[in-house]
Amino acid sequence: MLRPVGNRIPTPGKAEEGDYPWVSYCTELLDSGTSALYLAFLAASRMGDEISSPEVILPAYCCPDLIAAAVAAGVKPVLADLAYESPWMDEHQVREMITERTVAIVAVNFLGKRAPLAGLRQLADNHGLLLIEDSAQAIPPSSTNTPLADFVVLSFGRGKPVNLMGGGALLYPESYRHVLILLIAPLPERQVVCNLPWHLKRLFFHMLMSRLLYGMMLRIPMLRLGETRYHPLQQTARLSLPKSLILRGIEAFLCSEATIKSYITSLHFLTDSGWKVLSDMEDVHAAANCGLAEQALRFGMLAPSKNDRNAVIEALNKRGFAVNALYESSLADMSDVKAFLSQPPEDFPNARDFSERLITLPSHNDVTRVDIQTMAQVLK
Ligand SMILES: *Cc1c(COP(=O)(O)O)cnc(C)c1O
Repeated sequence: MLRPVGNRIPTPGKAEEGDYPWVSYCTELLDSGTSALYLAFLAASRMGDEISSPEVILPAYCCPDLIAAAVAAGVKPVLADLAYESPWMDEHQVREMITERTVAIVAVNFLGKRAPLAGLRQLADNHGLLLIEDSAQAIPPSSTNTPLADFVVLSFGRGKPVNLMGGGALLYPESYRHVLILLIAPLPERQVVCNLPWHLKRLFFHMLMSRLLYGMMLRIPMLRLGETRYHPLQQTARLSLPKSLILRGIEAFLCSEATIKSYITSLHFLTDSGWKVLSDMEDVHAAANCGLAEQALRFGMLAPSKNDRNAVIEALNKRGFAVNALYESSLADMSDVKAFLSQPPEDFPNARDFSERLITLPSHNDVTRVDIQTMAQVLK
């Protein structure tokens, strides 16, 4: 079984170190992306002084970790529906959701694609809100070149573009340092040292990523592989991590073959039969022109219907491709998340439609041209 996601883990380099590409921001390394979001939410609620029950606006279809971070930070998640057939929030919806309690808007990058920030920045400025770019799925983030976001969140988890077997980062402008320092100071610190046990763990992770072992693990229902569920945020720690590991991970991702281009050409025929492909060559070239990665985290498409989507997943699974639907449903439809929301799932028809039609194909380091040809054949 070809795994759905998971790039190879970089090794640390020699002493010589470069700078992070996001020169407009300071970098605080944390134990996870969720922890970074949690800190961003805490900071946003501190800066929105006098607001007793602060709210943050999130897309109605996204990773349930955003809810976990909001709950831990004591801010209320308020969802905005997506635009039709798009992973991005409908900006009219976002505007509707702004109240006097709103402190931040979160734009969430999706499968390596970067959410448009300009319109949200404008909204945030008009209402005195912070804009957070959740770039767990895209590196470098779009605020690298155009620093529109007040905070940027990165993740180095297993399914992310730079896989360091865990970790995350909060990027913030120098002018917010005084707020961040107070929030970060009490956190415990964990150290990652690239010693022999670390190298063994890395080899072990790589072994589990192989087609044979991944396929075997999928048969163990207890592991719930490939499922994304709601997990409360248990802990937040600072992380001390060799900088070269991150820099080499970014370098490897930027240099990796853009399998996404092969997908776009090989699967173009689908658009004639009611499918919607979420990436096009324009995106790829735009990213390349800004020095951002051409490669995506996964290749996403919307099937004409839920039945078609499920049939294709089943057919591809049978041929040895562990493709899946990413998150099972919109946030408002997740049973573990509902308790934290006061909006009914019916308010988010586009997010629900998106969740029912989305299929994601792998684009990690071990996807070959033959794999893509085979998948295209199955889809045909
Ligand atoms: C994975 C992910 C997170 C959380 O990152 P972790 O490092 O796994 O805690 C947050 N937001 C998005 C969009 C993600 O995909």
